[in-house]
Amino acid sequence: MKAWTYSEYGGIEVSKLESDFEAPQVKEDQVLIKVVAAALNPIDYMRRLGNFKATDSPLPVILGYDVAGVVVKVGSKVKDLKQGDEVYGDVIEHAIYRPTKFGTLAEYTVAQEKFLALKPKNLDFVQAAALPLVIETAYQGLEAAGFSEGKSLLVLGGAGGVGSLVIQLAKHVFGASKIAATSSTAKLEFLKSLGADLAIDYTKQNFEDLPEKFDVVFDTVGQSDRALKAMKEGGSVIVIVGAATPPGFSFVLTSDGEVLKKLNPYLESGIVKPVIDPKGPFPFDKVNEAFSYLETNRATGKVVIYPF
Ligand code: NDP
Repeated sequence: MKAWTYSEYGGIEVSKLESDFEAPQVKEDQVLIKVVAAALNPIDYMRRLGNFKATDSPLPVILGYDVAGVVVKVGSKVKDLKQGDEVYGDVIEHAIYRPTKFGTLAEYTVAQEKFLALKPKNLDFVQAAALPLVIETAYQGLEAAGFSEGKSLLVLGGAGGVGSLVIQLAKHVFGASKIAATSSTAKLEFLKSLGADLAIDYTKQNFEDLPEKFDVVFDTVGQSDRALKAMKEGGSVIVIVGAATPPGFSFVLTSDGEVLKKLNPYLESGIVKPVIDPKGPFPFDKVNEAFSYLETNRATGKVVIYPF
């Protein structure tokens, strides 16, 4: 099958489109998925750079965590999914610990049933592919930080893949009393459209200098020291990139289709929406151009790959 793969760690130049890569075998608890759309995540290029070498699976590996596609084969112990089901999910259970060989930037991928959910009926494959890893990070992260109804939140990096979902989930699922978020000047209105009450322009203002403090600070940028200064006494700071300064804590998602199922009503009613970067979707043969763009760290929402 065609697949984007790499055999050595490095920059974009090590990532190659192969036309005859071995297709994955379906284990008894897995399904084989014909990929229709996939999305990129910073973890893809961090993994390709060798940042998780010590816990990675042996090379070559296929890039890609997020998928939306159609089930074409099911293993003997698969309970609910069947051939023809339209599914989406993050196919890699632990993002940085033993991530599996068969990622989603290929014609076919495999995943355990528990990582997947049926695609929300109102979303197309491009929209569905834009969700799994970031919406699961947002949901699990808010839970880990003890976020709940009536609490206030500051999101560092509100316009990115994760941040854009943290804002929406905090507002519409968790019932935040107030949401502030940071971005550059051009994205402030976008933050408000997602549900932020206060959009902070990081090019003009230091968020930690605001008189207002927050119950939870969700750091998607790597500003843990500064984040602590914006936290209310007794609050929490969750850090998903870089080191966490205590009492801030580091968090890494675990792929879980149950989160997607739980959030399905919010997606199907249109209250929570996938955010797709307007420069995309990028076609399958332009994956490296898509990575070049993602690696600028300026993407708005998700960089999606479609068609395959
Ligand atoms: P994105 O590539 O989507 O983030 C890009 C966004 O970051 C842009 O919109 C940009 O907005 C914003 N940004 C960049 N610098 C700043 C800044 N100084 N202040 C505020 N906003 C900024 O990344 P993701 O959202 O997918 O991921 C964010 C980080 O979290 C990555 O490092 C990723 O690896 C990590 N991550 C960790 C997970 C975990 O489980 N631990 C899971 C998922 C992601 P602007 O152009 O306005 O600067």
